[in-house]
Amino acid sequence: MKVVTRFAPSPTGYIHIGNVRSAIYPYLLAKQNAGKMILRIEDTDRERYVEGATELIEDTLEWLGLNWDEGPIIGGPHAPYFQSERKSIYHDYARRLIESGRAYADPTPSEEIAKYREKCSKEKIPFLYRNFRPENTPEWEPGIPLRFKAEPKEYAWHDEVMGDMHAGPEVLDDIILIKKDGYPTYNFAHIVDDAEMGVTHVMRGVEYLSSTPNYLALYEALNLERPKLVSLPHILAPTGNKKLGKRDGAKSVTEYRDDGVLAEAMLNYLACLGWNDGTEQEIYTKDQLIKNFSLERIQSSGARYDETKLLWYSGQWIRKIFDEQGVDVLYERTAGFWPEVADNFNNDYKRRVLSIIYDRLKTLSDLREMTAYFFAAPAIDIDMLLQNKFLKKLSEAELESTLKTVISELTKLEDWNADSLQNTLNNLLELTNKKPAELFSLIRIAVSFAPFSPALNLTLEVLGRDESLARLNSVARAI
Ligand code: GLU
Repeated sequence: MKVVTRFAPSPTGYIHIGNVRSAIYPYLLAKQNAGKMILRIEDTDRERYVEGATELIEDTLEWLGLNWDEGPIIGGPHAPYFQSERKSIYHDYARRLIESGRAYADPTPSEEIAKYREKCSKEKIPFLYRNFRPENTPEWEPGIPLRFKAEPKEYAWHDEVMGDMHAGPEVLDDIILIKKDGYPTYNFAHIVDDAEMGVTHVMRGVEYLSSTPNYLALYEALNLERPKLVSLPHILAPTGNKKLGKRDGAKSVTEYRDDGVLAEAMLNYLACLGWNDGTEQEIYTKDQLIKNFSLERIQSSGARYDETKLLWYSGQWIRKIFDEQGVDVLYERTAGFWPEVADNFNNDYKRRVLSIIYDRLKTLSDLREMTAYFFAAPAIDIDMLLQNKFLKKLSEAELESTLKTVISELTKLEDWNADSLQNTLNNLLELTNKKPAELFSLIRIAVSFAPFSPALNLTLEVLGRDESLARLNSVARAI
């Protein structure tokens, strides 16, 4: 059987962390089985439609490397891939149901329906529209909602993640298939499209599980084969027990991209949120995810979103790219993330800065704050020196004389490189009779005035002789 999956977002806003995972698993399953993933835009709820949301969805998928095999932009044999352009297909299916007596036009005004609902709530009985089904119904024509004629019965089915499921007749109802505006509901449209597009695995959020019996009734009434159903558990908000949503500040995926989180890290983190391959492995490339993914190992309980963990992944991926592919490849990815003061510096210098700082970055945008002193002399902040926990015990005179010894030794250095700098720094420990934490903090702060920096000899090497000595001199004068 050829595997066909789909990601079927509604263009109602940006895609956030909580819903992009419904694209990752269908992608992995399709690729693993040399199948196809379809992107389908479910835009029949015209009231919730947001201009530009489709482009954001496409951008997000492209950034993550989740390339769809059929869908918007690239087309395919089941085009169009926007539900709003498929009205006539839904209407054909609707007519089939009318002909077989399984759908009816329902002109009942919504105020009337509200009354039925109220009556049930007063009597404390569940509201089922089929108990109020009108006796005589008109011919179906545009402007009149079309409803399914449900047959109360039991359903049993297997969900690939949730296991064997069962539901009684009380959940089956006369759901709306086509709305007043002529557009289908999600409930109807996705059944038709999944069948038309040959989808073999319907993977979506677990929120659709409770409606599944109604979907099963529709497959049956339309004589369609049931696809495999895969309910993906919620991604939970960082605290509490509710699903992560925009209201909990769930950021859009592209916001993380703009903050310099690597796409590989985002994909890796989200894929492992609620799935594991049974080992302790944490870092996976896309190819490894494709190879190791399995539906059986998707966990059925919710997985908690943890931004700190995402940033950990991002840092790991920065190191991985540097270590495995080299500084040039990582450097290519840093465009746009340097501080403004770096604009006038050449690529070679920036590459050298990157190669000593990369292992401290969590996101590429950390470059902005962490590297500014490589490009412009920092403002001298004597308090920062005096209040440093290692330097507090030293008098100002002691700091000044120590700096002078440092300057005079470094001035004598012939080869300004990491090794000879390290030798000089070691010799200075004896000459100044200071502890490493004292001496090195003093020099580090004097050249950077930053909370931390890469290894001191590397920092001095990259800054260069003239710049390093100039900065040390200015501080010695200012104390
Ligand atoms: N359009 C639905 C949503 O965005 C998709 C559900 C599905 O994948 O079938 O929630």
